[in-house]
Amino acid sequence: MIAAAPAKTGLSVIVPVLNEAESLPELERQIRETCVRLSRTYEIIFIDDGSTDGTFEVLKGLCAANPLIRVVRFRKNFGQTAALAAGFDRARGEIILTLDADLQNDPSDFPSLLAKLDEGYDIVSGWRQKRKDRFITRRLPSILANWLISRITGVKLHDYGCTLKAFRRDVIKNIRLYGELHRFIPALASKMGVAVSEVKVNHRPRRHGKSKYTISRTVRVVLDLLTVKFLLSYSTRPLQIFGLFGIVSLLAGTVISAWLAYERLILRVAIGGRPLLLLAVLLIVIGIQFITLGLLAEIMVRAYHEAAHQPTYFVREVLGDEPQDPPGDARA
Ligand code: UDP
Ligand code: MG
Repeated sequence: MIAAAPAKTGLSVIVPVLNEAESLPELERQIRETCVRLSRTYEIIFIDDGSTDGTFEVLKGLCAANPLIRVVRFRKNFGQTAALAAGFDRARGEIILTLDADLQNDPSDFPSLLAKLDEGYDIVSGWRQKRKDRFITRRLPSILANWLISRITGVKLHDYGCTLKAFRRDVIKNIRLYGELHRFIPALASKMGVAVSEVKVNHRPRRHGKSKYTISRTVRVVLDLLTVKFLLSYSTRPLQIFGLFGIVSLLAGTVISAWLAYERLILRVAIGGRPLLLLAVLLIVIGIQFITLGLLAEIMVRAYHEAAHQPTYFVREVLGDEPQDPPGDARA
């Protein structure tokens, strides 16, 4: 509810929550106090991502006490990316802030994020320079992932994994999120030509509850990176990448077959037992396959771009008032 001041300055704070009951009251207090200190209108949207530890009851209490809080409760655990997407769909503020619910991110960094946005950036990402997590299982994979992501996406940030970020509304409203893609929002948005920057932020050790991720997340992040690279570079012209492989392979196969044909027909050498023959056939078949795959991908890409949005999450209930214009989710 951003009623008092002009909606332009409004902040929407989005918090994905999975089993963080103990941290929530303190987190709500810190966010509220920071927003009040900033003298901006604000709303806080908590997304309960299928918690089982009484998180929803705590959120219910917070929502009853503060009319600026809204709570979206998922039917089951759909993951942090879907939770953030649900928040983005409902956010009414002109500026959208995201942060973790476990008190590791510090709301007192909001002012520096907002100041950076005011310099003319569309997305400002937090950089946890002194990250308070285990080295081997969290920080080391993250160093490698950050290096790889910045090389491949061309968006230079130090810390893609930090949830504490600030976005201008129009940027975020145009991005659809799937899988584990939330850490790639700056990269995906770069396609729209937005200005991305970062500021150093505080990071605190986790006090309550457990981390929801294990090292296996790194594998998923790397796979998502492939998707992002494809979406960024070839999503509108897949034939250009598949077709290129296809043509190279087809050409190589044809050249080898021509050579073999010359040997057989002119030089009268037997070619039946030659491994080169197998290679030539393989290259030709693969080449044709790649080209057809590229054509199929072209058709799918067109269908994808024109199809109606498919929901990535299902909401059980919403506390607090919903926007008039219903967001793009499905109710089941
Ligand atoms: N989270 C979520 N859904 C999930 C996993 C995590 O909403 O499936 C939330 C979690 O409650 C926390 C944030 O995402 O607010 C980040 O999770 P966590 O602190 O476990 O990650 P870490 O800081 O260890 O990378
Ligand atoms: Mg955490």
